[in-house]
Amino acid sequence: MPGLALLGGTFDPPHIGHLRAAIESVEALNLDELRFVPCALPAHRAIPGVSAADRAEMIDAAVSGQRTLRCDRRELSRPGPSYTVDTLQSVRDEVGNGTPLIWIVGADAFAGLASWHRWQTLFELAHLVVLTRPDAHALIDPRLELELAHRATSAPLDLRTQSHGLILRLQIPLLPISSSLIRERLAAGRSIAHLVPEPVCRMINERGWYRRL
Ligand code: ATP
Ligand code: MG
Repeated sequence: MPGLALLGGTFDPPHIGHLRAAIESVEALNLDELRFVPCALPAHRAIPGVSAADRAEMIDAAVSGQRTLRCDRRELSRPGPSYTVDTLQSVRDEVGNGTPLIWIVGADAFAGLASWHRWQTLFELAHLVVLTRPDAHALIDPRLELELAHRATSAPLDLRTQSHGLILRLQIPLLPISSSLIRERLAAGRSIAHLVPEPVCRMINERGWYRRL
C-alpha cells in the first residue's frame, strides 16, 4: 500500500518549519508521498495578502529537488472557503476506499479542530497525524479528548493496515518558526535569510511581497 499524506495550510509563505515537519513525517511514517495543500480561501482567518496561485508557486520552489514532496493545487480550483473535509473527500474519490490516507496537522491546528466544518467526518476519510513537541502538555478540547480516547495509536504501521480513522501523535523537534514571524520580519524590513528556502526568499524579494503587514 502506498503511503500518502497531506499537509494543509495557508503557507503564507512556506518556511523551513513546514519543510522539516514534512521530512520528519515522511521518515517517521515511511511515506511515499507528502503533498502540501495550500488553501484558496482559509475558513478560519483573514484572506492572505499573497494569492493562492503565488503561494502554490512558492511551495513548488520550496520542495523542488525533494522526491517525496509536492504541491497539490486542488483547493485552488474550488470556489468558496477551503474546507478540509471537501479536500479529503476529493482525494478519497481518487485513491479509492481501501487506500490509507493521512492528514497531518500541527498541534496548534489540532487544538482548534472541533471548530472545523464537519470535523467528525474527517475521521471517516483519513487518519490524523498531529505533530507535537516532545515537551508539549497542552490542554485540549474535551471533544478532541473523546476522539483521542478511542482513535489514538502510537504505531505508524497501524496507519497502513487501516485506511482511516486513527489519530497518531508524532513527536518531532518543531522549529519555532511561523509564517507570521516571517511576514513581521519582512514588514519591518528585516532579513528572512535561512528561515525560508533560498528560492522562496528570492521570489519574495524580487516580487516585493509582504513589505507591509
Ligand atoms: P501562520 O503564522 O500564518 O499561522 P504557520 O507557520 O502556522 O503560519 P500555516 O500555513 O498556518 O503556517 O500552517 C500549515 C500547517 O503547518 C499547520 O498544520 C501548522 O500547524 C503547521 N506548522 C506551521 N509551522 C510549523 C512548524 N514550525 N513546525 C511544524 N509544523 C508547523
Ligand atoms: Mg498557522
